[in-house]
This record gives sequence, C-alpha cells and structure tokens, in this order.
Amino acid sequence: MTFAIHGLSVSNGVAIGRALTISSASLEVNHHFIQSGQEQQELKTLFDAFEAAKKELFDLKTNLPEDAPEEMAAFLDVHHLILNDPELQHKAEELIKKRHFNAAWALTTVLDELLATFESIEDPYLKERGADFRQVIERVLVALKGAHHSEDHHLQKKVDRESSEVIIVAQDIAPHDMLRFKELNFCAFVTDLGGKNSHTAIVARSLDIPAAVGVKNASDLIQQDDWLIVDGDRGIVIVNPPSIILEEYRHRQAELRLAKNKLQLLKHTPTKTLDGQKINLLANIEMPEDAAEALSSGALGIGLFRSEFLFMNREDGIPDEEEQYQAYAQTVTAMHGMPVNIRTIDIGADKNLDSELKTITSDISPLGLRGIRWSLTEPDIFLEQLRAILRASAHGKAQILIPMLTQSKEIEQTFDLINMAKRQLDERGIAYNPKIQIGAMIELPAAVFILPVFLQHFDFLSVGTNDLIQYTLGIDRADASVAHLYDPLHPAVLSMIYKVIYDCQEANKPVSICGEMAGDASLTRLLIAMGLKDFSMHASQLLMVKRELLKADMSKLKNSLTEILTTFEPNLQAKLIERLSNV
Ligand code: PEP
Ligand code: MG
Repeated sequence: MTFAIHGLSVSNGVAIGRALTISSASLEVNHHFIQSGQEQQELKTLFDAFEAAKKELFDLKTNLPEDAPEEMAAFLDVHHLILNDPELQHKAEELIKKRHFNAAWALTTVLDELLATFESIEDPYLKERGADFRQVIERVLVALKGAHHSEDHHLQKKVDRESSEVIIVAQDIAPHDMLRFKELNFCAFVTDLGGKNSHTAIVARSLDIPAAVGVKNASDLIQQDDWLIVDGDRGIVIVNPPSIILEEYRHRQAELRLAKNKLQLLKHTPTKTLDGQKINLLANIEMPEDAAEALSSGALGIGLFRSEFLFMNREDGIPDEEEQYQAYAQTVTAMHGMPVNIRTIDIGADKNLDSELKTITSDISPLGLRGIRWSLTEPDIFLEQLRAILRASAHGKAQILIPMLTQSKEIEQTFDLINMAKRQLDERGIAYNPKIQIGAMIELPAAVFILPVFLQHFDFLSVGTNDLIQYTLGIDRADASVAHLYDPLHPAVLSMIYKVIYDCQEANKPVSICGEMAGDASLTRLLIAMGLKDFSMHASQLLMVKRELLKADMSKLKNSLTEILTTFEPNLQAKLIERLSNV
C-alpha cells in the first residue's frame, strides 16, 4: 500500500531505498553488516556466546548456596530451557546468514520480535514471561560483548555494499548512535521523534544524507524492507511508491547530483563578497576523522569541535588525558596551522554519557547540569581535558572554547582551572602554547546581557544559535511537539545575535556563529547584513553558503537591517528577508 507520512526536514536531498527498522533495544548494541564470507565466523561467535551463557548458568546453579530460595533453582532451570531452545538460536542464525546482521544485532532483533509477541498476550502471567526471554538474551549479549571487547568500533566500517540502499527507520536515535551510523553507509534516516536542531539532527545533517525527524508513528507504519522515498527537502516519507512517483524522484535525485557537482567548482574560489569583504568559513566537527572532510571542503579551520562525542558511545569509561591528547593533536596537526576550537565537553540534555558517569548528568533536562556546569562539578575530568587541549596546542593552533557559560563566577572558576592545568603541565615539564586563545560560546540570553564580562575575559566569542534559540524561546530543541515554534527569525533572537556581533566589532573581538543558522544558506545574506564575517558549519554546507556569499554585497545588505530588526510582524519580516536575495 502506498502512503505518505510527514515530519520535519533536517537534511536536504532525496533518497530512495529499502527500510531497515531498528528498535531501541537493538540500538543499545553495536550493529553492523558483516561482509559476505564472514557468516561462518559470526555464527561461531554467536554459538560461543550461547555456550558461554549456558556455562555461566550451569556454574550458577551448581554453586547455589544451600540457603538459596527454592524458586531460584527453578528460575535458573527456566532460563536454561530457554537458552537451549533451538528455535531461538536458529532465528538469530538466519538473520546473520540472510541479512548479514552481526550477531548482537541479530539477537536483539529476535528479542524485539519475541517481546512484541509477549506484549500481545492477554494473560498477565504469560505476558510476564517475556521478561525471562529478555534476561536470557541479555546474558548472551553480555557474553558477546566480552567476545568483541577487543574489537574496535571501526569494525563497523566494514559495511556491505548493499547498505547504501538502506534507509534507517527508528523511533528515536540518540546522538551517539547517530555518530555510530556515521561510519556506515546508509542513504537516509527517518525517526518518529526529534526536533530540527536536536544533536541527532545535527549529526544527521553532517552526514549529508536526506533525513526526516518527527515523522510520527513512522516506525509503526513502516515495515521492514518497505520501499521508501525520503524527501529531505520537505520532510516527507513516501512508503511503497508507485513507479510513476519513483521515476519523478529519480529524476530529481539526478538533478540534485548535478547541482552538487557544480558547487564543487567553487571549492578553490576565495570567499569574498561582491564588495570585497573577506569572509572566513570554518567547519563544525564531532570526531578527529571529520577534519579530512573539513579540509577538502576548503574550510579555513575548525570553528567547533564538539569534543563530547569522544566521551559518548563507549563501553570502557571516558577517555583519559592521553587518549584525548592524541585525538586533539591529530585534529590540530591535520588542520596544518589553521585554528581548531576545541569545545570542552558539553554533556547533558540530549547528549548523555554511556559510562559509569552517566548518573552524574541530569538526564534529559536542557536546564540541568550541562556543559561547563557539569565540568565545574567534575574538576578532575575537566582538568584532564584542559591538559589534553593545552598539550595539543604544542602541535598547532588549538584553541579552547567553553560552552554554556552564564555567570561571572563560572568564568572565574573556569579560568582558575585553566591556569591550574597550565601549572600542572609546567610541573611535569610538558610543552604547550602559554598564549593559547580562549573563547566562550554565547548560547544563553543571560550571556548576551552581560556581554561586557565576556568581552573582558575571552579572546574570541562564538554564538551557539541552536541553544540561544532554545533558551530564548523556551523550546526544547529535541522535542518534536514544539518544533514548529523553534524560530531562528524570532525578533528576540535576531536582535540578540546582532547585539553580540555589533558589540564584538566595537570591542575589536573576533566573533563567529557556529550554530545551525551559520550553515543555512537561506540566512547567509541576513547574517552578512549583520556584519558577520566568521561562519562555522558542517563541511557539507560550506559550498552552498559560499555560493550565496559570492553573490552578496555586504555594504548594500546592511541598509535593510534596521527595518528587519524592528519589524515584529512575521509575514512582513519574511518579505523583508526574502527581499535581501535581490540586493
Ligand atoms: C549551539 O548551541 O548553537 C551549538 C553550536 O552547540 P550545540 O549545538 O552543540 O549545543
Ligand atoms: Mg550549544
């Protein structure tokens, strides 16, 4: 049956492929396609994990204390029976052989199916037996994890070629899971939940593949292997399209490919406006490996390295100073002397730690212990990170960028810790750049209103419009139900952005925008009119923004700014902004 479902567009383009529905249970394990020829090896891994789990159960039963309750032995017997059910292992084997799922993925898929069956049973006693299956399968998963412990996540890079036709459909995908997908080769994403500027959406955008979020009930309505068209420009998903619609979209896909190739011609063109104003386009990255793409897009540096992604999606605790140092030094070296703004860990809200420290972050509230607030409550971890960044500064232009600051006290404490990290390195005789530049993110209205304090302490500022919009309008950026109210053009937002740019220029302080607004080519002229000269965005957006800049005249655009900033009527404001494209 053909039908269309609507959501929010988060990444443009058109994708055509088959649905791969993923449940949240299977998201908790590493999953990747194994290569053809690896099936036997993966089946053996599965078999060994089953055997290890059986042995564990056997040992448990044999060593059961004498005073253990009777039910305990019965309970272990039930689990033993489940584990020996040939059907359970057989189903997972089929998924490995036929669909090339890795063992953990195959197992969680079987678990999901079983749980759904138990869920539909009315008898409350039988319904609860689903929990036994879950516990048994989780025991096997733990054994599998042990088997794969020495494997690196990069194993996932070995993706079967067929995956380039696969569209992931899930209820929700956490940012760190999205990062995991970054190493795979899927052609689009669709999720039931999520806002346009959630971190999940941001990572999806950086993959430069079409994606739609907030597509309500997509994961229920779409079946495994359904044919899908994801229209990323409009946030529409067409399920099992008729051939005439497919043809139309294939045609559009070809056109988009052509336009993209054309953009590549701009790669080496110097970024100057028509009136000769030089503009700096930098890149946002999540991992050191992203620096290569930044370079090839012509970025003049890394405006934002979201270092928290190094801390997420890990089974072995958070990275220590040495590991971080290697990651930062690798990035700085790759950028050949161009600036790399390493933002200190911005954990919290929709970005959570996987490790034992998870409980410290205040779960999902964007108003909780996030960014610098978290770092200041964990001074040892913060110092480790600061030392790692400082050490990387011996290899190139590493700069420190602090997120989520709102108060003078936090600024003071932050500098105290930076100075302490420097002293610690001095004591160890380790090299770093003592004049390392230190910047602050401006992403809360409070920061805008005490801007002189920031100007006094920091070498540069970077406006995080994603959060500035969230905290100004009181809208959780990851919540699909209020996504329609998330408005970058709200007069309150625009006047704050302009104030920061203006005040920085008056104070002769470098200022950039590294939120998603910087990479939205439809807003480039507006930001130029405000006098912005430093933009930081995903590498994939850079050439589109550049194309706009090359056609813009900063001096002329400036004339329209006052009228735009003082117009509070949305339709009129939209017309005025639209008119900028003719200036
Ligand atoms: C922002 O808030 O605009 C920003 C760039 O930081 P993040 O999206 O990581 O919160
Ligand atoms: Mg932010």
